[in-house]
Parts: sequence; C-alpha cells; structure tokens
Amino acid sequence: MLNADLSLFVSDLHLTARRPETAALFQRFLAGPARAARTLYILGDLFDYWAGDDDLGEPFNAETCAALAEFAAGGTRTLFMPGNRDFLAGAPFGVASRLTFLADPTVVDLAGVPTLLMHGDTLCTDDTDYLAFRAVARTPQWRADMLARPLAERKAMLDVLRARSEAAKQGKDYDVMDANAVAVAEAFRRHGVRRLIHGHTHRQARHEHLVDGRACERWVLGAWHDSGNALAVDGHGCRWLAID
Ligand code: MN
Repeated sequence: MLNADLSLFVSDLHLTARRPETAALFQRFLAGPARAARTLYILGDLFDYWAGDDDLGEPFNAETCAALAEFAAGGTRTLFMPGNRDFLAGAPFGVASRLTFLADPTVVDLAGVPTLLMHGDTLCTDDTDYLAFRAVARTPQWRADMLARPLAERKAMLDVLRARSEAAKQGKDYDVMDANAVAVAEAFRRHGVRRLIHGHTHRQARHEHLVDGRACERWVLGAWHDSGNALAVDGHGCRWLAID
C-alpha cells in the first residue's frame, strides 16, 4: 500500500557488477519495501562509479536503470542527488531510470518539517585534498573535457581515481574523513533548518547538534554491503529500516 506521507532515503549503495549481492538487495528493495513510499530519495553514490551516460548500454547499468524505471511505473517518485562517484550521470540516465535530479544541497518539506538534503562530501571540510579535486571536477569545463574522452579512457581514469582515493583513505585520519562540526553547524544556519539528512561518510547514525541555541538533528545514511539501510520519514518522524 502506498503511504502518501512516506519518504524513504538511501545513499552509498556503490552498485557495481563486482558486487552482485548488493545489486540483488537493491532490486529486492525496489520490488518490495520501497513501493510503500510516495518518494524515494537516493542521496548519491548509487553507483560505485558512473563514467558517463554513453555507458547506459553496459549490461549491469542497463539492468539497474530498468529496475528503477519499473519501480517508477509503480507510482513512487524517485529523486536522485548525484554523489562524488556518480556526478557524471546526466539527463539520459534520468530518462532511462525515470528519476528526477536534485541539486546538492536541497531543502524539502517532509510532512511539514523543512529538511536539508546533501550527499555529504561538502561537509567533510577537513579533507582539503578531496575538496580541491571536487572544486575542479564540478566545473562545466572539466565535465565537458572528461565526457569528450573515449568511454574506455574515462573508465580507466576513474579506476585510477578510485584506487588513489582508497589508498589516500588508508593514510588519512579517521576524523579527517568525517563531517566537520563547524561545516555542519554552518549548513543548519545557512538553510535555517533543524533537520539534515546526508550520506557519504558511511557512518550510519543520528546526531544531535545545538546551533545558536536551537536543537537540530542530523541523520547520516549508511553504506550498503551484504545488507542495506534506509531512513523512513513521515508525519511521525524518522526511523531506520534495515534492508536484507
Ligand atoms: Mn560519497
């Protein structure tokens, strides 16, 4: 039964043909529990990486987009905010998957509560190397230059970037890769909200923050591996759903 009030949030599924069990889990989620929601929000890093929309025909990508399109046909709206792994996804991906893009950040009204949505990477302000790369990679020029390269070359480049980021993570302090408290407070302040939902850090949790004397809450979505997680939000508030 469709619950007109219910929104579901997921992020950081990192779907790839190399992890068929996570892909199967997501397919079951779309065919089952997600159908109860009026809106499904995917807050980035749906894919382990997305090399460009000319890769829509790759069998794993085609299968994933077809599952999303079939899901949308069931009446739930899918909203997608790209993450740092899938920011090269564009309009053709949206059409194939029957989803609508969301800007990062976006404020939405959830059962009367203004809620700030972000992927979460921009909150990790201690990770200056990454933010320097992000500033360049999100320019229209970088995007155009990247997408002008042959698909195979892009895939090879993204493999290198991914390996480099994994290696860099090993050498970085655990706290450096978490959301920065000042950046979090600033986000609440700038958008005038008391609730924030984001992913990216893979550290599923609910945090309470006091910002200028106002009690705020931050829900961090977890990554998907052998099991998944979703945040369900309706007029009663927020609660975790385990997906397995
Ligand atoms: Mn991410």
